[in-house]
Amino acid sequence: MRKKTVDVRALKASGFIRQTENEYFVCRLRVPGGNIVTEKMVQAAELAKKYGRGYCHFTFQQSIEIPYVKLDDMDALKAELDGLGLRMANCGPRVRAITACQGCKVNPYGRVDAPGLAAAADEKYFGLDTPAKFKIAYSGCNIGCPNPQENDLGFHGMVEPELAPELCNGCTLCVQLCKSRGGESLVMNKETNLPERDDKRCTYCGECIYCCPTNAWVVKRIGHAVYVGGKHGRFPRWANRVADFVSDEETFELIEKCVAWYNQNSKRGERFGTAIDRLGLKKFKQEVLGDKYTAAKEWDVHGDRPKGVHYRVLHSWDPEDDE
Ligand code: SF4
Ligand code: SF4
Ligand code: SF4
Repeated sequence: MRKKTVDVRALKASGFIRQTENEYFVCRLRVPGGNIVTEKMVQAAELAKKYGRGYCHFTFQQSIEIPYVKLDDMDALKAELDGLGLRMANCGPRVRAITACQGCKVNPYGRVDAPGLAAAADEKYFGLDTPAKFKIAYSGCNIGCPNPQENDLGFHGMVEPELAPELCNGCTLCVQLCKSRGGESLVMNKETNLPERDDKRCTYCGECIYCCPTNAWVVKRIGHAVYVGGKHGRFPRWANRVADFVSDEETFELIEKCVAWYNQNSKRGERFGTAIDRLGLKKFKQEVLGDKYTAAKEWDVHGDRPKGVHYRVLHSWDPEDDE
């Protein structure tokens, strides 16, 4: 019997990934931002029963996978997915499905619409070819649940507070909260009985704004912090924070600029962070950011804490690891 020839790379690009057992493939579904309507979730489960072994796997990249699909069933499964409007994700050297947390619509800490932005960015940039995998994450706040510092390009929401002193009753709640969250940016001025903010120590979490019972703290600026070159894997690299307070639209602009720079400056298999290390962060900043965006506050090298605060430093070297 003649053996069927399979182009595994092409299948990876379309979302079918070979399993350990050569005759089976995982079908990876695209769920940008991690939100999927229940109807589609049920349909995916039904397809897992029909074409797989009756279970789905949720990946760390927020995709739903149907394992144990036979090579001969792929076309039929793909046709059913298309008919239901369920889209395939991908694998290999390209922009992956864009991830996000629940953001400000659901989570009290959220400052920006992380899943909405991830879905919009995914429509524009999913599947663009890059020298190696390229992961993008949107985080609603600086707690960073979707790990923006461990993605090739990551964003997290940030807010700069401003005090309307006439509204403050001196309750000290914001000062206590800021301290308990590790910001330690606020102190009460004993003479004025008003909180004072040290911008150098402020993490822009915005909690003072949301805890104040009299709405004395207001939003002065809101936007996203930008991280480049992060990755996990065998040789993790903590991302460089390169800009602060970029707008929603500017996050899209930066995705385009980073992908273009990466394609122009890297060879196949080299991760984005490795290219930045090889060519220098300074060159990257000059060529991609110029003087258009607000520079990131000066932080520890590879860290995201104000200077002097200990944080982890990870390896920045990696071999080619395009899985
Ligand atoms: S990153 Fe912030 S907004 Fe997003 S889930 Fe975590 S705490 Fe909530
Ligand atoms: S929580 Fe509001 S009212 Fe209380 S000290 Fe802070 S700013 Fe003033
Ligand atoms: S934004 Fe966060 S860190 Fe800054 S003053 Fe308010 S609570 Fe403190």
